[in-house]
Amino acid sequence: LVSRKKKADNTVVEIKGEKVGDGNTHFVFGPCAVESYEQTAAVGKVLQSKGLKLLRGGAFKPRTSPYDFQGLGIEGLQILRRVADEYDLAVISEIVNPAHIEQAIEYLDVIQIGARNMQNFELLKAAGEVDKPVLLKRGLSATISEFINAAEYIMSRGNGNIILCERGIRTYETATRNTLDISAVPVLKQETHLPVMVDVTHSTGRRDLLLPTAKAAIAIGADGVMAEVHPDPAVALSDSAQQMDIPTFDKFFEEITDLDRRLR
Ligand code: PEP
Ligand code: MN
Repeated sequence: LVSRKKKADNTVVEIKGEKVGDGNTHFVFGPCAVESYEQTAAVGKVLQSKGLKLLRGGAFKPRTSPYDFQGLGIEGLQILRRVADEYDLAVISEIVNPAHIEQAIEYLDVIQIGARNMQNFELLKAAGEVDKPVLLKRGLSATISEFINAAEYIMSRGNGNIILCERGIRTYETATRNTLDISAVPVLKQETHLPVMVDVTHSTGRRDLLLPTAKAAIAIGADGVMAEVHPDPAVALSDSAQQMDIPTFDKFFEEITDLDRRLR
């Protein structure tokens, strides 16, 4: 169902007026994890000031270590909803358990399925049964074919509003946290009719690489870019090394939108 052979025209996923897949570049920004109302609102306010609509933030955090911050859970989703309503934004947040979906969709606009759960087939099926767009991230060691099949699980249950997100894969390289597979973007766009985004934060794990990789994503034809923004990354409870503070984000956004304009 997700194959380009089944449907020649691009799927457009509409989220609060943003038509992801329409040929323009769309942006998803926000903190790695929701830590407090104040922290999330600080980012929400900046997004609104730039005319941006898509706010991300983790409430259920799938952390490598069980001793790391696990997220605020439903309370985190409630904070996101409040901030989104105050600043006229849509909420994108990860769900890790099929049992949470029903409650979470009261607060969410987009269900994110994270890299670690790309082949959690019960979660994929559950997300396929609700009427909410899904942002599906590529698994840490998933081939493109496995990634496409994961999207197929969602669509086979009736939900065709899927955005694919390349977020880097595990390779032997250690200079970056993951290896951004930039060529996955045109491959996915050729093989499927779904919009494709690039998460520059989790693919690189390095603040200094966010701008060049975001430029590459735009230049190669991604439908959107995701990156993490935190009012004070030094004290962030997760992903402290790669989130942008607000002044860095201002500059980042200015440069990528400038490139985006020049490429059109
Ligand atoms: C995230 O986007 O918050 C996240 C945990 O990313 P990934 O699943 O790609 O590691
Ligand atoms: Mn993160």
